[in-house]
Amino acid sequence: MFDPSSINLTKLAFNQSCRNREIIGCNWCVKGADWYCDSCRLTRTIPHLGSTRNVMLWRRVEEAKRRLLYDLRRLGLPLVSRSGDRVAFDILSDEINPILTGHLSGVITLNLAEADDVEREARRVAFREPYRTLLGHFRHEIGHFYWDLLVNSTTFQAPFKLIFGDETQDYQAAISSYYGRTDRSYDRSGFISEYATSHPWEDWAETFAHFLHILSTLDSLAGLPLSLDERARQTLTDPYLESDFEALLALWSPLSRGLNELNRSLGMNDAYPFDISPAVKGKLHLVHMAIVAFREQQRLAA
Ligand SMILES: [Zn+2]
Ligand SMILES: [Zn+2]
Repeated sequence: MFDPSSINLTKLAFNQSCRNREIIGCNWCVKGADWYCDSCRLTRTIPHLGSTRNVMLWRRVEEAKRRLLYDLRRLGLPLVSRSGDRVAFDILSDEINPILTGHLSGVITLNLAEADDVEREARRVAFREPYRTLLGHFRHEIGHFYWDLLVNSTTFQAPFKLIFGDETQDYQAAISSYYGRTDRSYDRSGFISEYATSHPWEDWAETFAHFLHILSTLDSLAGLPLSLDERARQTLTDPYLESDFEALLALWSPLSRGLNELNRSLGMNDAYPFDISPAVKGKLHLVHMAIVAFREQQRLAA
């Protein structure tokens, strides 16, 4: 059983299991008299559970969501905005109405069909994406929530404009024009993905997601029997709290290449099919600086 408050696996003693353990295998503990764990409680709407298929898909969604919430806890980021918006999730099946995955004022909506491997792969190919996962969706959508907290009305607003562009340009028009494009070529040195070119907010959300991919994978690396130098070992004691961006990237670059080589040896596609160009590195660095600055403010205010 996983105890999210201590970020540890624990033997079930005084802690109780989440009510969703039976139905979707949730492995987080609950506190006191709560029925649901800190992750399940954030799911405001669950999908229609009339079929075993939907239950199976929902299980996958919650598993990815717990990984996201674990990242956020390790990073020390709150689940409530300055204006009081709270992070919540609507997991909806599209049997009756079409469901668009997205974010609005803290509420992340996810189309349950994204948990179906065949459906998601078909969409990935249709949208010409090199990578499409449930966890990737969650890490992208939460990036929109944190733009408001970490960038909007902070000292990072001006650097954001300089590096990501002017976010005041019409969002709906930018997204419509993105989906209307016939020429799918784009400046690969300037953006981590094609979708990042649609609007500066999407570029931020894509970059934020990649920042979480990097930290989470480095965190998993810490448990592997590898010979690493002293500085690398220091970073891996807690990559989520590493204050030196260069130290993170120095580990990530060879690791991502190694991951891809491992996958190719197994006849699979690259695990991390992206290039971190100097421009993208600058964007990731801004995400890192904004998170570090936020944590420092919280520390001083405490
Ligand atoms: Zn739970
Ligand atoms: Zn987005």
